Amino acid sequence: MKIANISGRAALFTGTEFVDVHKASDGAFGPDPVSVFDQWTVFLAWARSAYPDAVGVEATLPADAEVGPPSPRPRQVFGVGLNYTEHAKEAGFDLPETPVVFTKFPTSVAGPDQTIALPDGSVDWEVELVVVIGAHAHRIEPDRAWEAVAGLTLGQDLSERQLQHKGPAPQFSLAKSFPGFSPTGPVLVTPDEFADPNDLNIGCRLNGETMQDDRTSDMIFPIGPLVSWLSHITPLCPGDIIFTGTPSGIGASRTPPRFLSPGDELVSWMEGVGTIRTVVAGPAYAGPGVPAVGGRGD
Ligand code: ZN
Repeated sequence: MKIANISGRAALFTGTEFVDVHKASDGAFGPDPVSVFDQWTVFLAWARSAYPDAVGVEATLPADAEVGPPSPRPRQVFGVGLNYTEHAKEAGFDLPETPVVFTKFPTSVAGPDQTIALPDGSVDWEVELVVVIGAHAHRIEPDRAWEAVAGLTLGQDLSERQLQHKGPAPQFSLAKSFPGFSPTGPVLVTPDEFADPNDLNIGCRLNGETMQDDRTSDMIFPIGPLVSWLSHITPLCPGDIIFTGTPSGIGASRTPPRFLSPGDELVSWMEGVGTIRTVVAGPAYAGPGVPAVGGRGD
């Protein structure tokens, strides 16, 4: 199934169009996208029986739709560093023996078509597969970890490198949490929609020039082991999102280094999920502002 956040309400692809979940289910689910993750197993069973022909059909969002992040108010946002072999090498690190994990604070979560204000410093791109959790998962074993996954979406782990490397230890979490620095979308796709959810083409283009282009099968810690490992430390909650690391091609590792400038357009893609577009504005730009984290919108 494919699920989107349209105008702050959960929407489901029927095979021909996106319908409002709350209306289509006679009020059983939604309208808040967050509430759907709280009832994920029951919701998915309903969706599959109501729209059995939806799987495997390419979905197009309505052109005029106001599309938000698939999980707009995650309780926890995990980021994983150095999870692709070539990226770990370009960053000058040995391959990690355990996942390198930080948080992106939830106020940084934004939608798939977003203009961001560029803060002072050197802002870099990191296209990433994003896992959305659909269960309460604590100490889940690797061979069952996919059961805790609602689906996959696409994201950018935007990163301000000067703050990240300031001081005696890296400041991953703050440097990656400016407003709009965690755009995700455009849709959440359930794992059964992919021939192999561990092997997807992913990449990004800056002003039309390809910067990253790789396959998620190059992950050092694939999705199942990663979800399991995290859940043995931190219980995972419905709607939590995990940025699973970026492939090679970031701006900081280029010669000379390249970073985002006002007026840039960053388009990211992932096979089976679609594209997200981030437009860069100057530091005075007011949006996207602070989303209603923790609130319960209608
Ligand atoms: Zn990252």
